[in-house]
Amino acid sequence: MRIIITLASLLLSMALAGQITQPEASEVWEPQPRVVSIDKNDLPSDAIVLFDGKNLDAWEAKDGEKPASWKVADNCVTVNGTGDIQTKQSFGSVQLHIEWRTPAEIVSEGQGRGNSGVFFQKRYEVQVLDNYNNKTYSNGQAGAIYKQHIPLVNACAPPGEWQKYDIIFEAPIFNTDGLKIRSGYLTVFHNGVLIQNHVEIYGTSEYIGFPKNIAHEADKIMLQDHGNPVSFRNIWLREL
Ligand code: MG
Repeated sequence: MRIIITLASLLLSMALAGQITQPEASEVWEPQPRVVSIDKNDLPSDAIVLFDGKNLDAWEAKDGEKPASWKVADNCVTVNGTGDIQTKQSFGSVQLHIEWRTPAEIVSEGQGRGNSGVFFQKRYEVQVLDNYNNKTYSNGQAGAIYKQHIPLVNACAPPGEWQKYDIIFEAPIFNTDGLKIRSGYLTVFHNGVLIQNHVEIYGTSEYIGFPKNIAHEADKIMLQDHGNPVSFRNIWLREL
């Protein structure tokens, strides 16, 4: 490392002195990025598929002891009042793709209309809600980092239509004393529109009170059962 730094500073000083005249001198050839290809369904070759429409094999009930029992039909999975579900596998920082659909039939308003949520590490919620002509508190609407960050715009499609989130989650880092030494960050695209641009996660998503920052390891991704029959499909992630 020291040799590389010394070489870099030597090259920099030579460049500043006007002694480097060749473009090749500043080219970097190694390492080369590994190849990731996309299939016909836009699935990256290095993705971990969490739900492909067939079964909930990658999921379990929130307590971790029972199988996930949301309803799987028509290539999607739908909240059915049996409680939150979570991945069997734990994750750190990820790129997540998830598609969701709130019920076509409107039965409530505000937070009661198509409410669910994507929780990273079971703690940090990107809100799922039907906010198509449905007003609620801004920091709790669809695409909000719940009670922490208002989405930049409202990109909601009408109820009953499929929508998608593409989310980059950078996990917070804690030291061995249990102190948070680097915050987590979230970037969210909603239906292709940037709605959260690398925003800082202040701590856990809390319905009442302030975010908490208790040290934790990598943890599961959780989907919320808020009592509304929200559907999901095509869920995959890439570990970062
Ligand atoms: Mg929610």
